[in-house]
Amino acid sequence: MSMNQPKIWLSSPHMGGSEQKYINQAFDQNWIAPLGPNVNGFEEDLKKYLFSTGHGSKENSIAALSSGTAALHLALILLGVERGDEVLCQSLTFAASANPIVYQGATPVFVDSEAETLNISPEHLEEAICSRITKGKKPKALIAVHLYGMPYKVEEIHSIAAKYEIPVIEDSAEALGSTYNGQKCGTFGDLAILSFNGNKIITTSGGGALVTRTAEMKEKAVFLATQARDVAPHYQHSHIGYNYRMSNICAGIGRGQMEVLDDHVAKRREMHQFYQDFFINSDNVKVFSEPDENIFSNHWLTIIELSGKNSLTSEALRKHLEKENIESRPLWKPMHLQPVFKDAPFYGSGIASAAFERGLCLPSGSNLREAEKERIANALKGFFEEKKEKLEI
Ligand SMILES: *Cc1c(COP(=O)(O)O)cnc(C)c1O
Repeated sequence: MSMNQPKIWLSSPHMGGSEQKYINQAFDQNWIAPLGPNVNGFEEDLKKYLFSTGHGSKENSIAALSSGTAALHLALILLGVERGDEVLCQSLTFAASANPIVYQGATPVFVDSEAETLNISPEHLEEAICSRITKGKKPKALIAVHLYGMPYKVEEIHSIAAKYEIPVIEDSAEALGSTYNGQKCGTFGDLAILSFNGNKIITTSGGGALVTRTAEMKEKAVFLATQARDVAPHYQHSHIGYNYRMSNICAGIGRGQMEVLDDHVAKRREMHQFYQDFFINSDNVKVFSEPDENIFSNHWLTIIELSGKNSLTSEALRKHLEKENIESRPLWKPMHLQPVFKDAPFYGSGIASAAFERGLCLPSGSNLREAEKERIANALKGFFEEKKEKLEI
């Protein structure tokens, strides 16, 4: 019956209005190319935003790129990751966090989550580092992820990495607008990456960025991202290059999106509050929320965990919502359970796999209206009534 109602998406692009203006400017000036004024403008906007809290230095720089995956790949190259190296990586994440390790011919070493934020576990991280060192190979880098916008345990993780002198690549693809102790996510790592893919908190239709600590590092990244041309009028190359720069058109969308980023964060957080209120009295549903007041999540996606009691399973709920034409999605399947990574080492105790079994991502878009929230609430009510689960609503 509700299939003829429009689909409610998990997270869909949400334009603010001035994106078109920046694109039109690019057309008027015939800047339909990688590089151009929108690219520079977007990089400036991002830098202002990320370092608006007073953290960081003048030297911090941003390179706008074709995707978050490209940014991760360049980050690994800049840290000197090569064939035969090992790179630590949070297991519970999107495959794009781990794939670039393999592009470099290196081996990922996956690490389990901790229960509070579902991000990389400090305990298992240290266990993994010590074990790899004992086996004769110190990991070359660490990729830590702010999953679904929830900051990982920055202090613990970075102090372990510092203790063993392992550089951190901060995968902030899902966490633009989140903060940890008042400092913006995307500013903690030796290098950090952002994504502007279609379903992220802001989008450029497709795109990403690399955040560096120095202007020199950015220059290196841009050099590699634009085919690594030596300074010479003829095309001379001393390095293998890539075609990873963001286009001036995409950057125009990005500039418009930066004007509405804070509004998007506020709306996503409203969606989170909506689910928190909804499940406040349920013993069988846990809404993953900020563990303390030093952590501020953009709540890119709100995730819940179902107890599994009385057939309250995430898959049953997903199917129920699907019948109502409402999209929900299982959590990322951990990398150590992926067929393609079956031979990679893993350190952990089952937190990530349990979260994958019981978790579900609920519609969290910044463009969901009251009528759509009502449809979601009714669909959830229907499911829990069917399962005789009492909810005080
Ligand atoms: C989206 C995403 C990426 C990759 O970004 P793209 O721009 O899609 O290449 C990397 N890591 C995480 C955690 C992501 O969610």
